[in-house]
Amino acid sequence: MPESRTFSIRTFGCQMNEHDSERLAGLFVARGMRPVREGESADIVIFNTCTIRENADLKLYSALGHLKADKARRPDMQIAVGGCMAQKDQERILERAPWVDVVFGTHNLAEAPALLERATREGPLVDIWPAPDPEATRDMAPALYAVRESDFAAWMTIQTGCDNTCAYCIVPSVRGGEISRPLEDLVREAQLLTSRGVTEITVLGQNVNSYGRDLTGRAPLFADLLRRLGELDGLERVRFTSPHPKDLREDTIAAMAETANVCPQLHLPLQSGSDRVLSAMRRGYTAERYLTRLRAARAAIEDLHVSTDLIVGFPGETEEDFVRTLEVVAEADYDSAYPFQFSPREGTRAAGYVEEFIAPDVVRERFLRLKEVLDRSALRHHEAREGVIEEVLVEGPSRTNDAVWSGRTRQGKLVHFDPTASLRRGALVSVEITHGAPYHLRGTLLDVRRGPRHKTRLSVLAS
Ligand code: SF4
Repeated sequence: MPESRTFSIRTFGCQMNEHDSERLAGLFVARGMRPVREGESADIVIFNTCTIRENADLKLYSALGHLKADKARRPDMQIAVGGCMAQKDQERILERAPWVDVVFGTHNLAEAPALLERATREGPLVDIWPAPDPEATRDMAPALYAVRESDFAAWMTIQTGCDNTCAYCIVPSVRGGEISRPLEDLVREAQLLTSRGVTEITVLGQNVNSYGRDLTGRAPLFADLLRRLGELDGLERVRFTSPHPKDLREDTIAAMAETANVCPQLHLPLQSGSDRVLSAMRRGYTAERYLTRLRAARAAIEDLHVSTDLIVGFPGETEEDFVRTLEVVAEADYDSAYPFQFSPREGTRAAGYVEEFIAPDVVRERFLRLKEVLDRSALRHHEAREGVIEEVLVEGPSRTNDAVWSGRTRQGKLVHFDPTASLRRGALVSVEITHGAPYHLRGTLLDVRRGPRHKTRLSVLAS
């Protein structure tokens, strides 16, 4: 039997992209190909790109540059570039790297294997759909065949695109408007995952709170989805990312509080504490409205872990605006945060605010001040866990030291501990926290193997 062709997928960016890559891998495997083994050269190399992170262009073109000589040596090797940057740059990718075989966009990911086959006959090609096909997006059957990184934790995309117009963000123009997958399809996918041994599902969407609004033409269905996932037997943990603060509704907070397997973890991107900057960013809320919703969530959900994203040095941000951000950050009392220094993204509204750009040294100085406050807050929260016995989902050896294992608490905090010989990945164990550091916890694995923290009801699923 001839050896099957091999492929490798290099992913840039967010969890949604990571999961898109898992779906892509599933499509290639369904066609009889296999993922490359360590140290082996792939017959097909696919780049799944992102435009959100800084220097995304640089990273992609430098990675493509490294492949130029390989391609000259092995003309049968194929290179494809997909994802957000492909959707944005289109033909420009072939102009800058003519050794690329296929460029595909965010809306025709499922076509990638067929496009690569076509390119073997027709030569290099660019195929970008200007808009998503709602039916194909809702169907998303490839999700069922995704080759997933983990066999106990899975991502599940519930919607694509975004209806908002945040001034710094490229997502709406490269991913289009919101398209939600049908609720019953999601429940079925989650049920299938749990039947295969998955105990944790992270629900993904650009604005999960508005999930379903396009299906009902009215109210979103996110709270209903959480409650339905709460009924699945064997599903121990449900997480989600990200909700938009302006759309965080009471029914979502209530569903989080009342659904036992929904983890007490909320990532609520603030971006800025200044109402003037929030308005320039087109975020649709004020700092006070944000804090009111956060207080409601904290009051309703026991032991809630709250994290956020912040942009420092948005065009026009004054020292007064920045100080307001520090005040709101202090009041929000975050467990963890991801601060970014503003950098313009081509194709966004904010990239045109050139006259209001802030000097890089000022941005850097504010960033460091903010980071110090955030790090102190994170450390305080972690130290407060010392002595607590946490339920931990075991992930395996830590990235830097094989002798130490890691896992996540229900709040999503990273814990390191010494394993026992019989410990396995995916186990739910009890760990007593002995030390809180800024970015992780250290703990002692307890002898007693702890079962699920809660009992789930037997699921009744629509057929
Ligand atoms: S909510 Fe704003 S930042 Fe988030 S994806 Fe939509 S436009 Fe981008």
